[in-house]
Amino acid sequence: MTHIPGIVITGASGRMGQMLIRTVSDSDQARLVGAVEREGHDWIGRDVGEAMGGQPLGVTVTDDPLEAFARAQAVIDFTAPEATLGFAALAAQARCVHVIGTTGMTDEQIAALEPAARHAVIVRAGNMSLGVNLLVQLTRKVAAALDEDFDIEVIEAHHHHKVDAPSGTALMLGEAAAEGRGVKLAHVSDRGRDGITGARRRGDIGFHAVRGGDIVGEHDVLFAAPGERIVLRHVATDRAIFARGALKAALWAQGRTPGQYDMVDVLGL
Ligand code: NAD
Repeated sequence: MTHIPGIVITGASGRMGQMLIRTVSDSDQARLVGAVEREGHDWIGRDVGEAMGGQPLGVTVTDDPLEAFARAQAVIDFTAPEATLGFAALAAQARCVHVIGTTGMTDEQIAALEPAARHAVIVRAGNMSLGVNLLVQLTRKVAAALDEDFDIEVIEAHHHHKVDAPSGTALMLGEAAAEGRGVKLAHVSDRGRDGITGARRRGDIGFHAVRGGDIVGEHDVLFAAPGERIVLRHVATDRAIFARGALKAALWAQGRTPGQYDMVDVLGL
C-alpha cells in the first residue's frame, strides 16, 4: 500500500493540462493515474506522454472521467465551466478531491458545486499561484493597518495578447485592499487599460494595466502617502507556478472533511 495519492488531470491536452501532466509525473509526492479529454479528441486512446511529444508515461488518455476518477484520490481540473460542473458531480461520486483552476464560472455555476462539496473536498481558486494568494492576504493586512493618507494603486503588466484589463488577479488584489480599508471597491471599469484619467477621489483604489511583449504576469500594490511608500510585488515568470499550486492543493486536501476550500486554506493564511 502506498500513501502517494493518484491524480487524474482533466483537459490533458490544454496549456495548463500539459503543464499539470509534467508537474504531477515529475513529483515524488503524487502519481499520475489518469488523463481525461473531451469525447472525440484525437488524444483519446493514446499514451499521454507520447501525445505530448515525449516519453510514454503509462497513462492512456480517456473520455470516460468516472472510470479514471475511480482509480484516483484527486482530480486536477483546468478546463471550462460546464465541463468542471460535470466533473464535480463525478468526483463527488468517486469520493475524489476536486481541485478546480477553471475560471469564468458564473455565480450560479459556483453555487451548483455545493451538492458535490457535501461528499467530496473541492479546492477552487482563480489563481493557484501560492505567491499571488499570499500577496492578496498581505494586501488586506497592509490596507487595514494604514490610514487614508495612503493612496492604494494596483499596477499590473501582462503580454500583449491579453484582452481583459485590469486582470482578474488585479481585481482580487483591489478587492482585498478595499476589504482591508473597509470600503467597497468601485470605479474599476473606467480605470483599466488607460490608467487613471480623472481626479482621484479620496479612498479610491486605482488600477493601471500595462500590455507588452511576453510578460507572464506582474502585479504591484502601491501604498503611497506623503513622505513614504510601500510596494508589494508579485512577478510570475512561468505558468508552472499554477500547476505547482494545484498539486499542493491536491496533496493538502487528502483526508479533509468534505466542503469547499480555497488556496488561502491550503496556505493556512
Ligand atoms: P486550454 O483551452 O488550453 O485547455 C482547456 C482544455 O480543456 C482543452 O484541452 C479542452 O479540450 C479541455 N476540455 C474542455 N472541455 C472538456 C471536457 N468536457 N472534458 C475534458 N476536457 C475538456 O485552456 P488553459 O489555458 O489550459 O486554461 C484552462 C482553464 O484554466 C481556463 O479557465 C483558465 O482561465 C484557467 N487557468 C487558471 C489558472 C489558475 O491559477 N486558477 C491559471 C491558468 C489558467
